[in-house]
Amino acid sequence: MPPKSQPTEKPPPVIPCPKAGCSRTFWTQKDLDRHSVAMHPGTVTLWWNEAVVTVGAITDYPQHFRCSCGREFKDRSASATDYEALESHAFDEFQTHALRTHMVPPHWVPVDAKAEKLGPLVKEFLSKGFSLYDIYGFSAAPVVRRLLICNKCSVLVFAQSAGRHLTEIERRAEHPLDDKFNNKYSPAMLTDLLLKAGVSKADQNRNYRLNGKIPQLPGLPVLDGFRCDRFLAGGVPCSVAFPKESTMNNHAGDDDHDRKLSAGRRHSPCPCQNLLGGGWKATWVIIPNPGYSAISEPSSLTSESKGEHGSTRGLSASRTRRSSLSRKPNLDPDPIRTLFIRIRTIRTRG
Ligand SMILES: [Zn+2]
Ligand SMILES: [Zn+2]
Ligand SMILES: [Zn+2]
Ligand SMILES: [Zn+2]
Repeated sequence: MPPKSQPTEKPPPVIPCPKAGCSRTFWTQKDLDRHSVAMHPGTVTLWWNEAVVTVGAITDYPQHFRCSCGREFKDRSASATDYEALESHAFDEFQTHALRTHMVPPHWVPVDAKAEKLGPLVKEFLSKGFSLYDIYGFSAAPVVRRLLICNKCSVLVFAQSAGRHLTEIERRAEHPLDDKFNNKYSPAMLTDLLLKAGVSKADQNRNYRLNGKIPQLPGLPVLDGFRCDRFLAGGVPCSVAFPKESTMNNHAGDDDHDRKLSAGRRHSPCPCQNLLGGGWKATWVIIPNPGYSAISEPSSLTSESKGEHGSTRGLSASRTRRSSLSRKPNLDPDPIRTLFIRIRTIRTRG
């Protein structure tokens, strides 16, 4: 008989679950993530009775959710180990149901730095020319995302890249920083603060597709683009937008459109805003403010090779925007805000 191998001492698990009241610890981040989605499922945001509704679980383990429409989503009970090993949970089913059945109409709400406890450092950072918006109506989870816009450069800035954004050489003219500010913030610290304030991280799939048109977002230039007029399976309008017609032509060959419904239909010009300086996944069809002026760049509409990702374009766009604003000092986004004051946010549990 071969000698029994000595049992090797496994080091104690060192990663604690951050959830208040939970005392579990884990060896790897992956184990913690699995535990978190299984045991602490969070909430689902949906549209019900003309309101944004946030629905929490009736029980977390096993997960049990009841949608506002009455449908129930339940997991079977199992041992914690088996349960945490499951590929998906009731939450995922509920989330899919909500995205398909209770689509939140796209709209935005400015984040009130005074009303929310963002902390003095985040407020100081925002005062350097940034704005925070809660954007509702994404067609993939999370349905609500908090986006940070640099008003000086007219671009979306992610929590991870805020520090780099301020110090990039081509942005220095837009962001003259004093030493006091620089000494206070390291890029890592800035990222940490912004994440704690709920600011979105870069989306892995870079998918910022909305459920439909959104009122023009302040701080981003308006472009003359093109909206897809075809339909997806189930008769859902595709309605994605492209800043360039050439990219739209490539999209028209995609298979996810319903062939019958989409026959003969192509695309039409529309005002749009692009978050990331490029593709359709981050281009929104907008309801423009009265008196808006779009930046049209005929060359970029015909040539794929034009450097649309280049920073020069972003800067020229922001200059155009500011000069058009200074010509129309009374341009007031308030009518749009009041439009959405009617939207209530309700949290329900059980
Ligand atoms: Zn936990
Ligand atoms: Zn439902
Ligand atoms: Zn900037
Ligand atoms: Zn399409």
